[in-house]
Amino acid sequence: MMMRLRPHRRTVLAGLGAALLCPRADALAASAPATRKVGGIEVVVVSDGVLNVPLSFSLPETPLSDAAALFKAHGLPEAGAPSQTNVVLIKSGRERVLIDAGSGPGFQPTAGKLQENLEAAGIAPDSITKVVFTHGHADHLWGAIDDFGDGDRFPNASYVIPAAEWDFWTDPDTATRVPDALKGMALGTARILKMIEKKVERRRNGETVAPGLTYLATPGHTPGHMAVSVTDGGQHLIVGGDVLTNTAISFARPDWRIGADFDRDQGIATRTRLLDQLATDRIALIGFHLAWPGFGAVERAGTAYRFMPL
Ligand SMILES: [Zn+2]
Repeated sequence: MMMRLRPHRRTVLAGLGAALLCPRADALAASAPATRKVGGIEVVVVSDGVLNVPLSFSLPETPLSDAAALFKAHGLPEAGAPSQTNVVLIKSGRERVLIDAGSGPGFQPTAGKLQENLEAAGIAPDSITKVVFTHGHADHLWGAIDDFGDGDRFPNASYVIPAAEWDFWTDPDTATRVPDALKGMALGTARILKMIEKKVERRRNGETVAPGLTYLATPGHTPGHMAVSVTDGGQHLIVGGDVLTNTAISFARPDWRIGADFDRDQGIATRTRLLDQLATDRIALIGFHLAWPGFGAVERAGTAYRFMPL
């Protein structure tokens, strides 16, 4: 997603504009967790709040009238709905594994709610044993640090990050390679990775990251982006991170180039491949930014796909 080190006046104004078009944006934020089972593993979706991202950022190469028509056909506001932030908590034996950590307080005022939503559900931050990151964007990683910006939000957790993602965000050249809107985010992510370095394990495609959880390489959105495959008792779920970010666009028009994708062509190729796999093998999905709680199946619809909430 789009980000700056701290809310920038233009970002705030853009967010305000989206909020005015959709005045109940905050009310759309889910607070009570949603729970599913994958075999003996309990999968709990906890909200970090909502994000307001201007369409001019998400779809910089698509006429906005085309996007409005697609949203309308899906029963959505013509400017799109606010983006959810569906953080996954895995309960497996004694392990309490978060997949991504939300944004913390420094990103958008409607987000950074993960800790309060966990605590409201009776889940203490110090009970989290591991945080597995899908990628280094602010809304997935910055929440690992507490609201004071100098300590771990989950003090007893170790961290797992895709090795290629670590290499990308810790490379001093990355801040000069990303679009202007993401420069502040690149610096912020590099700073946080430095803070947590001693507790980070780097893992590659196909490697186990926690019991029942393996990384699935899905590059394009970021160079090292990984989905997380959850399997137990013959059941299978894929936590898709930011491969499929919009309930309408990602499924009906996976070929549209997405502004937040670092490599937009690779993003399309990865998205199309994952959609085919999810539909063919009938694997359930949780998408981080999909309509709350982001859990559903993928079906073929003509030459494209549709998301069926479960
Ligand atoms: Zn992202």
